[in-house]
Amino acid sequence: MRHTVAVKVVVLGSGTSHGVPVPGCGCPVCLSDDSRDKRLRASVYLEGAGGERAVIDTGPEFRIQALRAGIKKLDAVFLTHAHADHLHGLDDIRPFSPVSIPVYGNSQTLDEFRERFAYIFKKTQQGGGKPRIETRPVSAGQKISLGNIAVTAVPVKHGALDIFGWKILENPQNPAENNEKSFVYLTDVSKIPETSFTLIAEDGKPGLLVIDGLRQRPHETHFTFEQAFEAAARIGARQTYITHICHSHFHREIETLCREFTEKQKAAGRISPAWDGLEVELPGKTGF
Ligand SMILES: [Zn+2]
Ligand SMILES: [Zn+2]
Ligand SMILES: [Zn+2]
Repeated sequence: MRHTVAVKVVVLGSGTSHGVPVPGCGCPVCLSDDSRDKRLRASVYLEGAGGERAVIDTGPEFRIQALRAGIKKLDAVFLTHAHADHLHGLDDIRPFSPVSIPVYGNSQTLDEFRERFAYIFKKTQQGGGKPRIETRPVSAGQKISLGNIAVTAVPVKHGALDIFGWKILENPQNPAENNEKSFVYLTDVSKIPETSFTLIAEDGKPGLLVIDGLRQRPHETHFTFEQAFEAAARIGARQTYITHICHSHFHREIETLCREFTEKQKAAGRISPAWDGLEVELPGKTGF
C-alpha cells in the first residue's frame, strides 16, 4: 500500500516582521553564517497533485520568494491578516495574473487590503499596472475548494485581532483516511480558541503543522516557543515546524529547545524550527 503525494508545501519565509537579519542589527544571530538563520517574512506556497498552486500570504519579499521557489502559476492567495509583513508584496503577483486570481481572507483583512491597495480597485488604473484579483470574503470555518484541495478558514487570535489560520486537505477523501493528511498553518497567533482546536481535529491529526513561535520571551500578539510547543502537542501533528521566528535565537538553539520539549512530552510528534526553502510532501489517497 502506498500513498500518492497530495500537496507539496514550501516554506517561503520563516521570519518575523523585521525579517532576519534585522537591518542595522549587529547581534550574533543577525551576523550568523548559517543559512537557516536568514529568515524572510512568513509565507508558504502550496502545490496540489492536480496542478493547484496557491500561497498563504504575500509578504514584502514575495517576488524574491517566488523566484527562489520557482513559482510558475498561482490559482489563489489566502491571507491570514493584513499586517505589512503578510500582505505588502501582493502587487508582485502580477506576472501570475493574466486571469483574475481570487484573494481569500476574513472581511476585516480584505477591507484593509482594499485601503492599502486602493489603486487596484480604481477604474482609472488601466493596463499592467495592477494585479488582476478578486477579493473573496470567507467566514470562520468556511471551506473553499481549489481544484482537488479543500482549504478551511481556522480562526485564531493575534493579540486583540481576529485572524485566520488555514487548513489544507486533498478533497474529496474518505474521512476515515484523513488522519495525518492535512496541513495546518497558524502564523501570528497568541491564542487558539477551543472551537478551532475542534475544527482542526475534524480531519484527524494533521500530517503537518506550521505554527508561530516568535521567541522565548513573552509577547502580546505571538506565541513563545513554549506556547507553540504546547499547542503543537495538543494538536498532535506528525511533524510541526515553528515559524515567524525573530533574531533572538540561532536555528540550532531552537532545535535543541524543540528536542528537549519532545523528549519531555513523549506523545508529541516531531517539532523543529522551520527554515526558508523547507519543502514537505503530504500523503494523499492510498493506492496499491
Ligand atoms: Zn507577522
Ligand atoms: Zn539581530
Ligand atoms: Zn501580524
